[in-house]
This record gives sequence, C-alpha cells and structure tokens, in this order.
Amino acid sequence: MQLANPNLLKTQNYINGEWRDGASTLEVRDPANGDLLAQVADGSAADTEAAVAAASAAFPAWKSKTAGERAAVLKRWYQLIMDNVDDLARILTLEQGKPLAEAKGEIAYGASFIEWFAEECRRAYGQTIPTHNPAMRLSTIRQPVGVVTCITPWNFPNAMITRKAAPALAAGCTVVIKPAVETPLSALALCQLAEEAGLPAGTINMVVGSDAPAIGKVLTEDDRVAKFTFTGSTAVGKLLMAQCASGVKKMSMELGGNAPFIVFDDADLDTAVASCIATKMRNAGQTCVSTNRIYVHEAVHDAFVAKLRTAIEALQVGHGCDDSVSVGPLIHRRAADRVQGLVQDAVEAGASVELGGEYLPHGENYFAPTLITGVNDGMRIAQEEIFGPLAPVQKFTDEDDVIRRANATPYGLAAYVMSENIRRANRVVEALEYGMVACNTGVFSTAVAPFGGCKESGIGREGGVEGMAEFYETKYCCFGA
Ligand code: NAP
Repeated sequence: MQLANPNLLKTQNYINGEWRDGASTLEVRDPANGDLLAQVADGSAADTEAAVAAASAAFPAWKSKTAGERAAVLKRWYQLIMDNVDDLARILTLEQGKPLAEAKGEIAYGASFIEWFAEECRRAYGQTIPTHNPAMRLSTIRQPVGVVTCITPWNFPNAMITRKAAPALAAGCTVVIKPAVETPLSALALCQLAEEAGLPAGTINMVVGSDAPAIGKVLTEDDRVAKFTFTGSTAVGKLLMAQCASGVKKMSMELGGNAPFIVFDDADLDTAVASCIATKMRNAGQTCVSTNRIYVHEAVHDAFVAKLRTAIEALQVGHGCDDSVSVGPLIHRRAADRVQGLVQDAVEAGASVELGGEYLPHGENYFAPTLITGVNDGMRIAQEEIFGPLAPVQKFTDEDDVIRRANATPYGLAAYVMSENIRRANRVVEALEYGMVACNTGVFSTAVAPFGGCKESGIGREGGVEGMAEFYETKYCCFGA
C-alpha cells in the first residue's frame, strides 16, 4: 500500500502502549477486487483481558489530569489526523470501498468529534443545589465512569471509533476498542496517531480479532469495565445488551435503522432528489441513516421518479480510488447477495425494477444502483434494513396515513421530510417517532448535535453535549453544615 506516511500502516494490536502480535493473523482485503492489503494480528479473549487490565491500570492517572491537560492531548490527536487525511482516506477506501472523496469526508467528520469533545470536557460543570435543609449543603460533581469498552462496525471504520473514544477520553475514561474485522487498518492507524499525540500507555487500547463473540464477552462482562458502547446491527446489539445485564454495565447502543423519506406534493423536487441520492447512495447505501422507504405523494410520484432515475443514471460505479467514481462496491459478496434477494422478493411481490437490479461485472461485490417502483409496506425491502444501493419507491395520498406508515417499524433512527410548507414540515417532523429527523436535506450528522435513535435503533446519543454526558457519573454530594 503506497502511503506518504508508512507509519500509519499498523498490523498489530495496540495494548498498554505496545504493538503486539496475536497467536495468528487474519487477512484484510480490498472489497473492490479482492486484493490482499495486509495480514493483521488476530487478537483473542486473553489479549482483550490484557487490554482491559491496561485500561484499568491507566484510569487513575488519566482521570486525575485536568480537563485542560486532556484537551491538549486530544487536540494534538485531532491535528495529526487532519495532517494525515490523505493517507487515512486511502487506507479507508482500500479496505472499505467507499469513494475517496467520501473517505476524506469521513476522516474530517471523525476528527471533528475529537475537536468538539476536547472543547466540551472543559465545561463539565456540576451544580450547587438550593438546599432542603439549612443544616446541609448540596452539590453535584461529574466524574468519569471508568473503563469504557467499544465495538464498532465496518461502514464508518474511522468515525464510529472517534464518536466513542473522543468523549470517553475527554471525560477522563480509558478505552478498549474492538473494530470490525473487515476494516482494522483504519482503526489501528488512529491508535498510531493517538500514541504520537501523547495519549499515555493504557488509555487507548485496540484488539482486532476474528472471534467477535469471545472478545465481546470480555468487553461486556469483565468486572473492571464500567461502560460498554456499541455501534452495529440491532440483532447483535440485543445480544450484547443481555451480556451487559449480568454486571449492570452502563451501555450505549447505536443500532440499525429503517429510514422513511417522505416527499410531499409541495416539495421542491430537485432538492428532494438531491437529498434522496445523498442519503440513499452515499457509501453504496451502507449507512445506518440510509433512506430505506421512499414515500412519494401520488401527485408528484411520476415527476419525482423521472428525476430520480436521471440522477441514478449519472452515478459512476467503480473502485473508490478512481476520482470519477461516486458509488463503490459493497463490503462483501454476502451483502450483495442479500441486496439481490431483496430485489427478487420485491419483484415476485409485484414491484417493478426501473433501473439496475443486477450484479455488475466490475467485481463480485458490486451491485448496480437500483430504482424500484410499485413497492408496498409488506415487502421485505420495506421491512428490513437494505444496506445497499436500492431506492424503493411507494405512493401515498394522505399526510396522516404516510405518518402512520412511516412510524410502523420497530426502528427509530433517522427520517426525512421533503416539503416547502413550514406548517406541514413542523407537524410531520414532530409526529415522526425517530431520534433524528432531517427536513429538506439528506445530510445532517455533525459533532455538535446529538446522533442516535429510539425504539430498536438504540439507547443514548453520540455528539453534542449529550454525547459527553454518556461518559460521566453524576455524583450527589451532601455536606452536613
Ligand atoms: P454487526 O454485524 O452487528 O457488527 C458490528 C460489530 O459487532 C463488528 O465489530 C462485529 O465484529 C461485532 N460483532 C458481531 N457479532 C458479535 C458478537 N456476537 N459479539 C460481539 N461482537 C460482535 O453490524 P455490521 O454489519 O458490521 O454493521 C452494520 C450495522 O451497523 C447496520 O445495522 C447499521 O445500521 C448499524 N450502524 C448503526 C449506526 C448508528 O449510529 N446507529 C452507525 C453505523 C452502523 P466482526 O467484525 O468481527 O464480525
């Protein structure tokens, strides 16, 4: 792999400030063409226990630093990431598949959480409480929860780590991270830069490993762990929540979604189409906030579909390192086969493929950006998280009815509303049962606002002032006068 800074290509686990081999190695491959990128240490449950021990030993000294001292280290980490954005983006594209421009966007987005929380930790104020008893003085202080463990997915291999590690470290916690097995190189590069920034040994630890259940068991059940934070599928999240229950661990869960995208007859259709492409085709549809169900008012259905078709036809599919490419491969063949299965199910149930709907010859993980009409809520494509470049369109006629349909899912992560009518937009935004609603835009995530879902999409928030609160314990202090 050609990098301006070859130090960023790390292939060992990072435990207690040391780069350590595993008992064996695992392969990291380019999803675009199957090329072998690296052999990475395959960490075990024992490695994970060592990482938790290191984080536990490092906690007293790290929490004792002032917020300003922690912020200074985090700001150096932020700056080093930005200084190496081109290399980090290249690593990310090669192991994950997204186009280079998107990868650079993710690196900057990921780094922005470090910058934000470095600033935010200086304002972790407690309260002085008006007392209920003249002989007592009441106050609260906020203290770091302790050792935080994290499991992250492959679809945002940089940012899903910084959204957790940055607030945890800023609060004074120490962390152990298990990144996804498909994308360990982006994760390990972050540790290299954390080390260069001056994070003390043991404050940040990383274990890559093929035995996720064994590693996950340590991360959720070890007595030294105070909090577990997960981003991934709802199915795995539920399993890990159950494991956390035995030790009553604090936990945050950023899980799957099934986002509705509602286009009213008063929408600006060009804005609606641009927003739809942004949320639907970014990362080849493999984001948790990807549009999953497109509801279009019958009066503008045909016009919207025609414009969406033109926009999808303009997308260039190929290797993410090619500058002209806007959609890369899916992460692996299983993902492409799932997407194909959803198309087939929809067609058998009466939907029409207007565009795409097939594997592409570029490589075995490529699936064509696809437009499907005549979809209904009973089809698998409307009920399951698609995680691929499929745009399934349904019609609606009535505002109350489309709100009911949009809410009729166990998920509650993100929703989109396209309308130029401010009263309607307000009404619908408030009525949607989702953690995040975007109106007249398809891109909304930022470090300064709380990201997260309700219902089976999760518990807790990342980003904003809320993201910092997840890593503090509020202690009530009562002094007899
Ligand atoms: P996944 O299968 O749940 O995997 C996520 C992580 O969990 C990976 O690191 C994986 O390890 C690990 N894992 C899997 N099974 C485990 C087990 N039994 N014990 C412990 N760890 C286990 O999800 P994914 O397919 O990688 O990611 C896509 C999902 O993430 C989608 O549902 C998406 O919506 C969700 N997501 C949510 C958000 C959000 O903010 N709400 C953001 C991004 C993604 P291995 O890699 O080793 O298998």
